[in-house]
Amino acid sequence: MRQVLDAAAKGGYGVGAFNVNNMEQIQAIMEAARETQSPVIVQASRGARSYSQDNFLYHLMMAATELYPEIPTVLHQDHGNSPATCKSAIDMGFTSVMMDGSLMEDGKTPASFEYNVNVTRQVVEWAHAKGVTVEGEIGCLGGVEDGHGAGGDGLSHVTDPEEAERFVKATGVDALAIAIGTSHGAYKFNRKPDAEVLKMDVLIEIHRRLPKTHLVMHGSSSVPKQLQDVINQYGGKLKPTWGVPVEEIQLGIKNGVRKINVDTDNRLAITGAIRKVLLEKPEEFDPRSYMKPARDAMKKVVAERMRQFGQAGHASDYKAIPLKEMAARYAGETVGV
Ligand SMILES: [Zn+2]
Repeated sequence: MRQVLDAAAKGGYGVGAFNVNNMEQIQAIMEAARETQSPVIVQASRGARSYSQDNFLYHLMMAATELYPEIPTVLHQDHGNSPATCKSAIDMGFTSVMMDGSLMEDGKTPASFEYNVNVTRQVVEWAHAKGVTVEGEIGCLGGVEDGHGAGGDGLSHVTDPEEAERFVKATGVDALAIAIGTSHGAYKFNRKPDAEVLKMDVLIEIHRRLPKTHLVMHGSSSVPKQLQDVINQYGGKLKPTWGVPVEEIQLGIKNGVRKINVDTDNRLAITGAIRKVLLEKPEEFDPRSYMKPARDAMKKVVAERMRQFGQAGHASDYKAIPLKEMAARYAGETVGV
């Protein structure tokens, strides 16, 4: 992932990181990447790894790299809750891991700065020795995703830029997730977010202090009304909600954001498409009759984000570096204080 993000920094664009649990979601992302000629980050949470029993996920991703050899593809562990989780991902072949030490191992209780530095630094040592990238988090996002999250609104634990600077120096992380008011899940904001609830000024200050650190925006689905409407039109019951507007993400990309996590938008697209088929054609019982439109709907959203984030057209800018060579590069760097 470090290579993908370095290239994105050089080119001034962002790269979407899309969550997966199953074959259709992986196919949707890879097809969108091929259509737009984009490098891509595929990520799996702990919940996704347990849903797919790890081995299904691993072999589906191997199939993706066989079928789409022209696409630089990252497999990233989303929100590792402990060094052990990150180690199991590295051992399995993930090329990037997130050690989220902003929370304790229960994935709920906000942790101390010292705890966060210790666990993250440990993972950086293991990961870099194998050429694997590490994302850390400082400050806590709001909401809960797959049972992981501090809960509450996004403003309870906004990242302190001075702490962010100390954290990166002490751990040597490649990428840094920051909390600027966003939350996981569908219910991020109860109105279109303004500067009061979405702290882009904090992001800009962190980038000023850490110009070489790749910033990561979590909870960055845009939750478009049109996707909510499809679900509700076909029997769903979503309450009105607002996500992070694409133009705010684009402002982030101008200020050091290189990885943008998107999950909810894809979930909405899939569910809307399935609801539509089941309601319009109650006689259908072949799962392909709704899984195929669901996959197409997700592909459409992913391709749109790839164009909006600027990664479209950059798949063939470079050749993926093997992990061994990455490990040698890390060995030449002085990491930590
Ligand atoms: Zn997240």
